[in-house]
Amino acid sequence: MPLSPHGSDSRYVEVAVFSPLPGSFTYLWPAALGDPEAGLRLLLPFGKGRRHGVLLDTVSPEAVAGQTGELRAVEDRLDLTPLYSEARRRWLERLRRYYLAPPGEVWSTALAWAAQDEKRRFRCPDVVALVQRYPVLADVFRTRAALSLGAICRRAQAPYVWYAALCANEQGLLQEEACPSEPEVEAPFAKPMRLTGAQQRAVAALADGQDKFTPYLLFGCTGSGKTEVYLQAAAAIVAEGGQLLVLVPEIGLTPLWIERLKRRFRRVAVWHSAMSGTERLEVRRQLDQIEVLIGTRSALFLPLPRLKMIVIDEEHDGSFKQQEGVAYSARDAAMLLAQELAIPIVLGSATPSLESWRQAEEGSYRRLDLPERIAQASVPMRAEIIDMRRADGPVSAPLLVALGQIKASSEQAILFLNRRGYAPALQCTACGEVPECSSCSMRLTLHRRAGQLRCHACGFRRRIPSSCEACGEKAFMPLGEGTEKLEDVLQEALPDLRLARFDRDVITSHERLTTTLADFEAGKTDCLVGTQMLVKGHDFPNVTLVGVINADLGVNLPDFRAGERWWQQLTQVTGRAGRGDKPGRVIIQTRMPEAPWLARLSETEAEATLNEELELRRQLGFPPYARWLRVLFSATKAERARQAAEEFAAGCASLDSVAVSDAMPCAIERLAGRFRYEVLLRDGSRRILPWKLEPLLAALPLPSGVRRRVDVDPQDMM
Ligand code: ADP
Ligand code: ZN
Repeated sequence: MPLSPHGSDSRYVEVAVFSPLPGSFTYLWPAALGDPEAGLRLLLPFGKGRRHGVLLDTVSPEAVAGQTGELRAVEDRLDLTPLYSEARRRWLERLRRYYLAPPGEVWSTALAWAAQDEKRRFRCPDVVALVQRYPVLADVFRTRAALSLGAICRRAQAPYVWYAALCANEQGLLQEEACPSEPEVEAPFAKPMRLTGAQQRAVAALADGQDKFTPYLLFGCTGSGKTEVYLQAAAAIVAEGGQLLVLVPEIGLTPLWIERLKRRFRRVAVWHSAMSGTERLEVRRQLDQIEVLIGTRSALFLPLPRLKMIVIDEEHDGSFKQQEGVAYSARDAAMLLAQELAIPIVLGSATPSLESWRQAEEGSYRRLDLPERIAQASVPMRAEIIDMRRADGPVSAPLLVALGQIKASSEQAILFLNRRGYAPALQCTACGEVPECSSCSMRLTLHRRAGQLRCHACGFRRRIPSSCEACGEKAFMPLGEGTEKLEDVLQEALPDLRLARFDRDVITSHERLTTTLADFEAGKTDCLVGTQMLVKGHDFPNVTLVGVINADLGVNLPDFRAGERWWQQLTQVTGRAGRGDKPGRVIIQTRMPEAPWLARLSETEAEATLNEELELRRQLGFPPYARWLRVLFSATKAERARQAAEEFAAGCASLDSVAVSDAMPCAIERLAGRFRYEVLLRDGSRRILPWKLEPLLAALPLPSGVRRRVDVDPQDMM
């Protein structure tokens, strides 16, 4: 009996192809590529094109015998050794199972940092020696110039060239070129600070948890010196040859961090989405030498070979959750990685997530407290609440006066308004019409300076219409206000005040970000006006005034986490006041001055607020006391999305101890031209989902044109 169409000594491999298709694929393994090993990246023929993929396992010829059709062969081998150790491969498999993602999508997300490899450049010192050993590389190196892997493959036009080039490099027949990197600016080294008692206890506790999986929650208000705790714990690790990974929610936080890190460590590397290909290659080349790596969530996937501790700064931040592709939470994924690598992990926050708070309350995480601010100015005065119900502009008189005062005394202010653009909507005063996005159930935001209406959901933009499309009148009025209008209003009222806006519309590059922050720090501007970008982690000692322009935004969203997020945001922003040795002042403008949650904004209330909210969640059976899983169906025809959602909900009826909702339209019902329906699964025991769902999802075929997205532990319910 013929075992396979390729003869009995053929070898086969199971591959996770980098595509969103579910499942894995079997390929023939050519003997010329050496020994197959799990974790190697491969080049594969796929459909009409080529894709990368990762070797998951070898397959016995018996298992292949039943397969119909000719199996295709692997085209090239992209790594000499697997990029991930066995522990990291186990970790990734856990992520795949937990987030119910196709293996190819998980692997391509994880190894995205290596996707630039075809730009790696090699030169050839001795062409004769190279060609003697690797005839496929004949005619490739015609001059002494370095060639990229991509160019080598194009020139050679032969099979297995990539693999040959890697082997030649290993044997010294090719030499990899370093990336031309900027000259290092030597930062003056700073001595570690003398720790406060609370900091000392925290550092000692961290030392205690080395070399085993130990999760910590570092709970300390803004300015309490959390960073110094991380730095000193890191110094101990680096002294022993270990490496540290710091994850921050946004690149906005990295300049401050980098500056601090560079004063203590020699080899600090940065990783975030705004980096160029060359910068990425340079980090990749130096993985072994890095002492501290700081980056946004994707930095988690860089395989630091001697990783000894992970820090998640501002752990409560929603940016740690990926919204496209694999819906992983970098915080939770980091927790699993720390477990697999048996290392400590520190979650730090002034306003922890309820998820982490619960773990700490139940003793699963060790809680470390930094209850006091370092600076004498200590806690800011209780916030002043300004009733805006009868105000006729976005800035109240007391806030204007306060801004004038800080200007006079050369201090600085931060104004927070979580809304970009000029106004959140434009309304025709004749007929009441409000222009909406043609592809989303969303109003269009007015961006006056750009002369545009923009959809903040899908990015659609159009010119501001000159007259109303419903009634023809030229009677448009902006409704409400965004940062752009706030800037105008302030400039008019206080012409001397030097303002800078800080939101996604003006901070369009890393450079803009750095210069805006540096100018503010140097006192070249008096006041920053910004969105949530401004809230996080910055340390401006000269800021003595914080104004919240509209505290009512975001409170009443149809999302059970809205309150938590609102509290975190406002607590963080009000914590920006009085970080140096001057006392701070916080002014909050609201149309709901009696609302009880306004009293909770002081950081001294954090613990009580968290306990209260946690108890409420427990009574309601909401996360973190239940695991939720949201399955979203979308299609250009509402009917198709609804039907798919209904079929799925019906299919879930067989799951016991899981509450399954009906198919419901999403809170944002239409997005980028697609109608959206969702089914919510709630598991009170936190045991069953999501693995239970895997066979179910596999068995329910998707009608054509319908997209499905599985979101485990959804953070955003809109
Ligand atoms: P957090 O990260 O908790 O918001 P930071 O680490 O930014 O707080 O600390 C706030 C300020 O206090 C910083 O300017 C920092 O340099 C300073 N600081 C931290 N620890 C000490 C210490 N032990 N002695 C003196 N100053 C300190
Ligand atoms: Zn839109």
